[in-house]
Amino acid sequence: MSSTETAASTVITNIATLVTNDPSLGDGSPLGLVRDAAVVIEGDRVVWTGESSKAPATDNRVDAGGRAVLPGFVDSHSHLVFAGDRTEEFNARMSGRAYSAGGIRTTVAATRAASDGELEAGLVRYLAEALRQGTTTFETKSGYGLTVADEARALAIAARHTDEVTYLGAHIVPPDYAEDPAAYVELVTGEMLEACAPHARWIDVFCEKGAFDGDQARAILTAGRARGLTPRIHANQLSYGPGVQLAVELDAASADHCTHLTDADVDALASGRTVATLLPGAEFSTRAAWPDARRLLDAGVTVALSTDCNPGSSFTSSVPFCIALAVRDMGMTPDEAVWSATAGGAAALRRDDVGRLAPGARADLLVLDAPSHVHLAYRPGVPLVSQVWRRGVREV
Ligand SMILES: [Zn+2]
Repeated sequence: MSSTETAASTVITNIATLVTNDPSLGDGSPLGLVRDAAVVIEGDRVVWTGESSKAPATDNRVDAGGRAVLPGFVDSHSHLVFAGDRTEEFNARMSGRAYSAGGIRTTVAATRAASDGELEAGLVRYLAEALRQGTTTFETKSGYGLTVADEARALAIAARHTDEVTYLGAHIVPPDYAEDPAAYVELVTGEMLEACAPHARWIDVFCEKGAFDGDQARAILTAGRARGLTPRIHANQLSYGPGVQLAVELDAASADHCTHLTDADVDALASGRTVATLLPGAEFSTRAAWPDARRLLDAGVTVALSTDCNPGSSFTSSVPFCIALAVRDMGMTPDEAVWSATAGGAAALRRDDVGRLAPGARADLLVLDAPSHVHLAYRPGVPLVSQVWRRGVREV
């Protein structure tokens, strides 16, 4: 198409409930709900939303058949460049048996041994799986290579499939540096950062007992920021610690997990623009205590909901599953959980072109085989996503 031609326009009409995430549209709620709605797409953008009866004329027409339409899910936290399998570890944990193999280290060994083609094939498979379940924007991280070459290649592979790529050389201290963690921090902030920064937008660190402490995390994130990467942090997942307050201090885009929070941590999150990203797949898969979403929401914190899809502690690519868990066990209303999995994820990635369906936004949307978004929690485990559109093109 030449630039002087206009892209074909398509209306999706007969939508029982449309989630726009724009309070100025529809019913004025945070979800900006419109009943009996239509969405008009031109090229890769939304150009109009409103009541069906008022929709402008278009070239094409799609009948949603009284179903619900939502923005595509924005999954702002995953670890999808890996090889190997940790079924045995999960089975042992869920069977109450001790399991002494190395957790993340098992995946690191398998990932280092895999070819680029094997790593990319795995990534493509999990991204396709996520897309079928309604995810149209995904972040993914390195962190299973932990050498200069293995981290850089993981990020280069990820960057071929998403703009939201995160350098996580500071996932754990690898066994080869067990005796000298300071030397590993020097590598992560030096040679490895130089090799990885061209492929990444974000830098992340696992700030936790047994991984990296607050001083190490500050040094790593500060070095990344100086190299043009924006911080995000794995914070306060397994225990109380400095991660959340460090995230706010460094204006990180998000503090992820937020399971063990003091009142000062909650106050810090409420005072800044750092998003609290909750990852209930991890608590589910490790039988750990849930993060308290209600406490964060009541304090005015912006909350995102993501999968943390990874082979060790949360091997799910399903945002609908996470929505159901958040509603059942974390005190979120269905409306809040849907907002957090769409607009909240976009906020955690500092994006305003996704996570909402309003004029100017990217035409990333899903059609549920249900009359409203509430069914995502009301009908847990049921594959309700019946169509997925990305950049104005139907892909599922
Ligand atoms: Zn993670």
